[in-house]
Amino acid sequence: MQRRQFLRQAGATLAVASTAGLAACAPPPRASTAASGSVVAPGTRLGAEGVELAPIRASIDRITGVYVCTRPFRAAGPRIEAQKLGHKTVVHNYGHGGSGWSLSWGSGTLALQMVQATGVRELGVIGCGAIGLTTALLAQRAGFSVRIYAKDLPPDVFSMRASGLWTPDSRICDAAHAPALADRWERMTRISHARYQSLLGLPGKPIEWIDGYSLADAPFGKFHGEVPDEPEFGDFSDRVHDLTPRPVELPPGSHPFPEPYVRRYTTLMFNISSYANYLLSEFLAAGGRIEQREFTRPEDLLKLPEHTLVNATGYGARALFGDDTVIPVRGQTARLVPQPEVNYGLRMRDISVVPRSDGIMVQVIGDTGNFNNPDITPRREDSEAAVRELADLMTGMRRG
Ligand SMILES: Cc1cc2nc3c(=O)[nH]c(=O)nc-3n(C[C@H](O)[C@H](O)[C@H](O)COP(=O)(O)OP(=O)(O)OC[C@H]3O[C@@H](n4cnc5c(N)ncnc54)[C@H](O)[C@@H]3O)c2cc1C
Repeated sequence: MQRRQFLRQAGATLAVASTAGLAACAPPPRASTAASGSVVAPGTRLGAEGVELAPIRASIDRITGVYVCTRPFRAAGPRIEAQKLGHKTVVHNYGHGGSGWSLSWGSGTLALQMVQATGVRELGVIGCGAIGLTTALLAQRAGFSVRIYAKDLPPDVFSMRASGLWTPDSRICDAAHAPALADRWERMTRISHARYQSLLGLPGKPIEWIDGYSLADAPFGKFHGEVPDEPEFGDFSDRVHDLTPRPVELPPGSHPFPEPYVRRYTTLMFNISSYANYLLSEFLAAGGRIEQREFTRPEDLLKLPEHTLVNATGYGARALFGDDTVIPVRGQTARLVPQPEVNYGLRMRDISVVPRSDGIMVQVIGDTGNFNNPDITPRREDSEAAVRELADLMTGMRRG
């Protein structure tokens, strides 16, 4: 199905569900959504009994940016291994699919152990995204003198365009490779999760726990996030149930949503601008150095002074190391003007909303045509359709 057709149909389905929900709840009459105008007055609370929520001012004139990047997916999972390159050792740490932020500390820990085995005290890290920054910080804290080399730095790296949620097994490997990756994945996940708890409550709130609501017009099954033209991915969620609170089903009437099935989830959120700023500041404050440069082939690395290097180039590893196992999985997000009073996420059939401090992130999910698609040209019309759908949801919600 074409993306726009899919969105239109999804929007129509949602509108029907909204109408049914409205009839059941008998709320006050609502205004229709203007093409680009926010119709829910600021200051309104959307509520019913237990749940009170500030409305999202969803309108296309409040979109502050549309961002596209490619998830660096590998069927076998991230490549974390050491390779000899001439007289140097390169420790690869790339290919984290849709889980790079979530797994970064655990993945960096595994990479660091391989670095330590080389016996050096000076380390070069190639790449300044989620993986490069966290690996560099871990190395510094283990006593290394670290220099980052990167073509682009935040905010111009792909990592800055992610959604910002705890998603440790999102497009992390395919189902066939899952058994081989499972133990290592769990180790990385648990290390990262523990590290994130130590980053709560910091100035600028780089990391927060938030509540969110999954909305559906049919009972919830187990959510796998399947997309018709993508492979079956590894699903490890059963291995780490203890790390996040259980979702709670909310009965009709106990929430403001028009959908008949609503589930509250609780998850970690990364305020990516603030978090990347924190990581960079920590790295520089500890004496880290950064050199902006691009490498076009592995031999370029032989000229660097450090004998041990970490390759944290993400999707860039495909070109730099000729690794065709890195598959680009395109993803697009839009951000709306920040609303500090909005502190909840949303997950609908085809939209995800993340209430980040650097803007309310709206992402189309479940759409086709992204797997093995390296095109990073923004398609603004897709994001506008998603924002309109969100606006419809807001106008269909009960006022408190
Ligand atoms: C739409 C979308 C939403 C996502 N949401 C989430 C989420 O909610 N949670 C989550 O955990 N993950 C999420 N991800 C996945 C996550 O963004 C990636 O896994 C992560 O960004 C990978 O980080 P990285 O550091 O490996 O790569 P990058 O951020 O791409 O960094 C690579 C670095 O290497 C440098 N580099 C590359 N090639 C070269 C070269 N030849 N020479 C010199 N330097 C080079 C780049 O300049 C950059 O500094 C999402 C991804 C997408 C697309």
